[in-house]
Amino acid sequence: MLLFDYHRPTTVAETAALMAELGEDAELLAGGTSLMNLARLGLAEPAHVIALADVGELGGLDATPDGGLQLGATTTIRHVETSPLVRGRAPGLAEACGHVATVRIRNQATVGGSLVHADPNQDLPPMLMVHDALARITGPNGDRSVPVAELFLGFFETVVQPEEILHSIVVPPPARGFRAGYLKFLPRTKDDYSTVAVAVGLTAEEGRVTAARIAVAGGGSTPLRCTAAERALVGTIPGEATALAEAAALVREALDPISDARGSSGYKREMARVCTTRLLRRLGTEDAG
Ligand SMILES: Cc1cc2nc3c(=O)[nH]c(=O)nc-3n(C[C@H](O)[C@H](O)[C@H](O)COP(=O)(O)OP(=O)(O)OC[C@H]3O[C@@H](n4cnc5c(N)ncnc54)[C@H](O)[C@@H]3O)c2cc1C
Repeated sequence: MLLFDYHRPTTVAETAALMAELGEDAELLAGGTSLMNLARLGLAEPAHVIALADVGELGGLDATPDGGLQLGATTTIRHVETSPLVRGRAPGLAEACGHVATVRIRNQATVGGSLVHADPNQDLPPMLMVHDALARITGPNGDRSVPVAELFLGFFETVVQPEEILHSIVVPPPARGFRAGYLKFLPRTKDDYSTVAVAVGLTAEEGRVTAARIAVAGGGSTPLRCTAAERALVGTIPGEATALAEAAALVREALDPISDARGSSGYKREMARVCTTRLLRRLGTEDAG
């Protein structure tokens, strides 16, 4: 049986005060889909659990005045997936959310938990990286903003310190001509993580790529941006066969995945190449939203 004291603050200030008082004995609880599993396995043994569900300030999903989005940390993945606002402003993000496990998990798991848990196979981080999203983190020394691309330090490790709370994610307005997509290679059950998954964002003007973003889940100890592949696409025609083959080969070269039950390291790198090729081909034929 799991035994811990359960706290249910209603404000960020109250949450921060509890965290300061309880220190390392306390864990924040969002959807609980990871934390409770880790606790059942004996891999987390918090004496105190601080639930974020009633902290209204951390929830919600809003349009920003400049055409972007703000996602509260406790917003569920299902809410992001089904939001007409997200589907209008960042359809690639809604697409990636739809690949997270099952509806049952997506109804519970949150945006904040998806980032702070920092499993490198998770689906939201690569897509948020492709959107140049920023994580707003609040702590005893005030607020700071960190690009999602710089949030991850290693397996299950982020720059969010134990005394800090991930407050929200800001997705900037997409550039004119931007389109994004997500392809997850999932040979096992629906509620498994991917073998690898690729997020791509392309901006094109007058028939040429002006900016590219490629990020991969399952390619190493963190979600990874593949900057050499991105650079190789700039100036090319979207979907052009030689250019996308070169970029996809550079993605394969950029990765260093572990071998595990989902595939050997070499297999994952090759499948990342295949996924990138297919996604670049698809985005090459799509109109920007
Ligand atoms: C069977 C199963 C299959 C899954 N498959 C996938 C998948 O295919 N793809 C995918 O992307 N995800 C998948 N997930 C979900 C994912 O791995 C995490 O479980 C989930 O995203 C964590 O969100 P949560 O809200 O439940 O976090 P919790 O479990 O509540 O918390 C996770 C960690 O984050 C910390 N935390 C949470 N919120 C904050 C915050 N605001 N500030 C600071 N720290 C915080 C907690 O203290 C804890 O350490 C799966 C989960 C399960 C159980």
